Amino acid sequence: MPSQPILRLRNIVKKFGTFTALHGVDLDIEEGEFFTIVGPSGSGKSTLIRILVGMEETTEGEISLRGTRIEKTPANQRPTCMVFQSLALFPHMSVGQNIEFPLKLRKEPPSDRRARALELLELLRLPAEYYDKRISQCSGGEKQRVALARALAFDPEILFFDEPLSALDYRLRKTLERELKELHNRTGKTFVYITHSLEEAMVMSDRIAIMRQGRVEQIAVADEIYGRPVSRFVAEFMGEVNLFDVEGTTNERLHGNGVEIHVNGEARDCGVSLAPGETGTLMVRPEYVRFLAATDTCDFIVRGVLRDEYALGSRLQYQIETSAGQTVTVEKLREDRFTGQPGSEVMLGFDAENVHLIRGA
Ligand code: ATP
Repeated sequence: MPSQPILRLRNIVKKFGTFTALHGVDLDIEEGEFFTIVGPSGSGKSTLIRILVGMEETTEGEISLRGTRIEKTPANQRPTCMVFQSLALFPHMSVGQNIEFPLKLRKEPPSDRRARALELLELLRLPAEYYDKRISQCSGGEKQRVALARALAFDPEILFFDEPLSALDYRLRKTLERELKELHNRTGKTFVYITHSLEEAMVMSDRIAIMRQGRVEQIAVADEIYGRPVSRFVAEFMGEVNLFDVEGTTNERLHGNGVEIHVNGEARDCGVSLAPGETGTLMVRPEYVRFLAATDTCDFIVRGVLRDEYALGSRLQYQIETSAGQTVTVEKLREDRFTGQPGSEVMLGFDAENVHLIRGA
């Protein structure tokens, strides 16, 4: 028998007056997974997570935790816990008192509380001396760890995170991303995380849900969402991408954005073909586009003029303009630098295995 998800959402609708923020969201979150909800600002991530922890009521829909309906259960009676971007620590209390707060609520004896707080400090890689430190004396990263330790002290069934790292600087964010992932592995708890940072989502998550305008557009593992997006929106949201509006023709070609894209037989065998008149979007990520020599062949070929080259740290990015005015982006590692000069004619190629066709888009 398939195991039941720890959290099941069915047709979650949320209206604020006449405005509908969530249009019927369905989600299954599995026990122990690191599940991330990403989407642009205003897509409904915070509203959804606030509903899940009970800070906001649903207008319609069902939420089940291990098969028990909880959508009407008040927040303080749900076995879940939220870690906010603002952290919501008690600034006048010590680190130890903050971590012990949930244990105090549960009326656990002081010696047990202290022992658990020290264990959690260790789990979060904070020195035991921090137990007596004041919150105001902690750095941003340390406060973040204290907030996490306090959330774990609640011993929730699910931990929810609302953009907990977005206020931190880049290096600290990267460190905490790794630590959060490790913490997830060590605790085995279910983590539900929201962010508008795709990179954060890709680094940490088992699965990702992409939200758009109050709907879930795609749910999958990061590689699937990156390589096989279901829509142009998801393709573009998941980083740099080349998209060609294509239409099948009767010969070995696709018409795309005014350029003819040659498709050889093998590519057709890979399913990257459209019936005459059928439309779609052909997607290829910049790292899979190659500069070809005049005699090279490739599944897909596009010609254009090299316009610009940009250095992006370890990578180089090239912008090529096709005769129809579309910009194609190519990325190379520095050691694979392309030596062509801006203004020169170039031939670009990509293989069927690196192309994804979004049908009907
Ligand atoms: P961000 O990344 O900017 O936090 P988000 O994806 O979390 O965005 P939400 O905060 O969930 O988006 O908001 C979704 C939509 O619902 C927005 O259009 C927002 O203006 C609206 N909204 C949220 N809360 C309320 C409210 N209390 N009253 C009216 N509209 C609201």
